[in-house]
Amino acid sequence: MLCARLSARGRRASRRGGGRLRIRECPPIRREKSMPIEVETLSGETDMLDDEKLEGLRMAFHGPLVTREDDGYDEARVVQNGLIDRRPALIMRCSGAADVIDAVNLAREHGLLAAVRGGGHSVAGHSVHDRGLLIDLSGMRGVWVDPASRVVRVQGGATWGDVDRETEVFGLVVPGGIVSTTGVAGLTLGGGIGWLHRRYGLSCDNLRAAEVVTADGRLLRASESENEDLFWGLRGGGGNFGVVTAFEFDAHPLGPTVMCAAPMYADGFDEVFRAWRDWADTVPDEVTTRAVFWTVPEDPHMPPQVHDRQVLITGAVYAGPPEEGERILQPIRNLGVPLADLSGPMPFRMFQSAFDFFFAKGMLDSYWKSLFMKELTDRAADLIVSCGVARTSPQTMVHVPLLGGAVGRVGPRDTAFGDRDAHSMLSVDGNWVDHRGTADHVAWVRHVIDRAEEFSTGGTYLNFDSDDPSKAPELVPAAFGENLRRLTEIKKRYDPQNLFRLNANIPPA
Ligand SMILES: Cc1cc2nc3c(=O)[nH]c(=O)nc-3n(C[C@H](O)[C@H](O)[C@H](O)COP(=O)(O)OP(=O)(O)OC[C@H]3O[C@@H](n4cnc5c(N)ncnc54)[C@H](O)[C@@H]3O)c2cc1C
Repeated sequence: MLCARLSARGRRASRRGGGRLRIRECPPIRREKSMPIEVETLSGETDMLDDEKLEGLRMAFHGPLVTREDDGYDEARVVQNGLIDRRPALIMRCSGAADVIDAVNLAREHGLLAAVRGGGHSVAGHSVHDRGLLIDLSGMRGVWVDPASRVVRVQGGATWGDVDRETEVFGLVVPGGIVSTTGVAGLTLGGGIGWLHRRYGLSCDNLRAAEVVTADGRLLRASESENEDLFWGLRGGGGNFGVVTAFEFDAHPLGPTVMCAAPMYADGFDEVFRAWRDWADTVPDEVTTRAVFWTVPEDPHMPPQVHDRQVLITGAVYAGPPEEGERILQPIRNLGVPLADLSGPMPFRMFQSAFDFFFAKGMLDSYWKSLFMKELTDRAADLIVSCGVARTSPQTMVHVPLLGGAVGRVGPRDTAFGDRDAHSMLSVDGNWVDHRGTADHVAWVRHVIDRAEEFSTGGTYLNFDSDDPSKAPELVPAAFGENLRRLTEIKKRYDPQNLFRLNANIPPA
């Protein structure tokens, strides 16, 4: 009887016949010895985790340990990008910092190849690896808002939707990305471009502290006054230095209702794009705007007249009073005659999650690449428009977020994030549903990026890049520029063995 009243954890432990919560009244449970698990090591060989080792792990580990034999394995390994179909040997679903420490210690002691997963949105597939260990933080999604100090504490596996939900209650916001299912961790560690970056900076610019399990298994706090070099590296340097169990952000007052613009133009793309560019060059920092080429799916969330139509959306958010925003955003609603116009004052959280429906986990195959742009000359604009209308798949997006504003006011050496001077970014987000077209879609994305190279600063945004830096060695130098040298030194200090290598990897100096 008592068994039936145990918590989920107790039941799990009881089933295994070994957990601390086992209760004497339960009959002893026999457990078949399981096969040792083969896990890939850092040197590419294989290490065996035998039953005894796993049983020891299970005694201490609070979250579930999922192997290929366990129910829920397939669900636990799936990530955002449908192209990434990988089968890790062991998934350690951490419930808190203590579990993360155990997982990192296991990886280090056995020299195991370990991926770290937050929101699982890495288009490059960094957060899951065949035959490796997966340190999964997706169960750690707590968010706490202190409205008095405007500090928001976020666990390492939370998504932006989790954050927005809590901050909205207090009329606050932390700048995140434009799809609310994206993980706070990967996005922030790589920079963080969204709907507020021109007003409040990149997500990483709003980070005030982080708690990190480093490769030696210590839990360190990093801020402007504690482990400052680590803190510097975390703001743009990706998941290279450890596993972040908690972030602390500065939040800002916003709305909750703000003026948002989303007119959808179905013709006159050349004129509309150039007019948007000219307008964008005049706007105050309160405006964050982007131009997006896309084909609107036949979806009840979208007006019927745009279903299956190729459109250019000139999207924008005004981070200020909605009435003022209405006036300031009006010009981009009249750049031509929009086929539909979804603009209006609305809760920021609603706009922030407007694209969520079209990015269901594992549904789209994706290959993305991006470039930071020096400026949008007429020739650059022509190229973008010609590529925008020649997309090889309706789900592909070609989009151009305007940068500058608060992003450009942070000094280039103040954080690890590479390129602060860019005018804008060109992101070519190849998405499709039919695996058979993969080679063509990938080739097309690369082709566009090659052609656009002449207009770029030479910098790239690693969060929007599907290539594996081990196969594209130019990527990491292009992303970090002069900051790379310091990053390699920090890497050497905190992760000399390069335990955390499944990422946009910075080699130890
Ligand atoms: C649909 C979609 C929309 C996006 N929109 C935006 C956007 O608007 N703006 C933007 O800037 N980017 C955007 N991105 C890109 C996004 O920022 C990156 O893919 C980012 O890496 C996702 O973070 P994640 O935690 O979800 O990813 P994951 O795949 O879980 O992790 C990505 C990387 O971060 C590391 N990592 C994850 N969690 C931790 C942790 N707790 N501690 C240390 N390292 C960790 C991983 O090891 C991996 O290297 C988008 C991506 C997708 C797929």
